[in-house]
Amino acid sequence: MANNITFTMIKPDAVAAGNSGAIIKMIEEAGYRIVAAKKTILTPAHAGQFYEVHKGRPFYNDLCKYMSSGPVIAMVLEKDNAVEDFRKLIGSTNPAEAAEGTIRKLFAKSIEANAVHGSDSDANAAIESSFFFSMTERF
Ligand code: ADP
Ligand code: MG
Repeated sequence: MANNITFTMIKPDAVAAGNSGAIIKMIEEAGYRIVAAKKTILTPAHAGQFYEVHKGRPFYNDLCKYMSSGPVIAMVLEKDNAVEDFRKLIGSTNPAEAAEGTIRKLFAKSIEANAVHGSDSDANAAIESSFFFSMTERF
């Protein structure tokens, strides 16, 4: 089935602030089923690989440091129109621009420490899910 999987990470700021439960509740209430979940710590090299598309951008090095600064919770999520609807649920990258009621508006601390990741395409959802999980880890 196409269009029904996205990948998210609850980022170090939101995990450290104790907001992961509230964020997962919002995700489930929006109709997503958790297919796989894992709490883990990225090395700076892993974070660099995950965000390779942003290599060369001015914020890349800080982003890699920040994303490896503490535990994240990685999840594969399932729902119709998963990628697009999840981007709406999390809101704009910059929380100052995020719509009211979105996860980033509620929980992000800054444009960098913005509480959650959400895949931007079906292809990237598949790549990012495989970065953290094998098919046998998905239920
Ligand atoms: P999104 O996570 O909304 O898809 P991007 O893919 O553009 O956003 O950026 C990846 C991540 O890099 C963002 O979620 C954020 O943590 C960080 N980031 C993006 N833009 C900036 C910026 N201008 N300054 C600092 N960090 C940024
Ligand atoms: Mg992105």
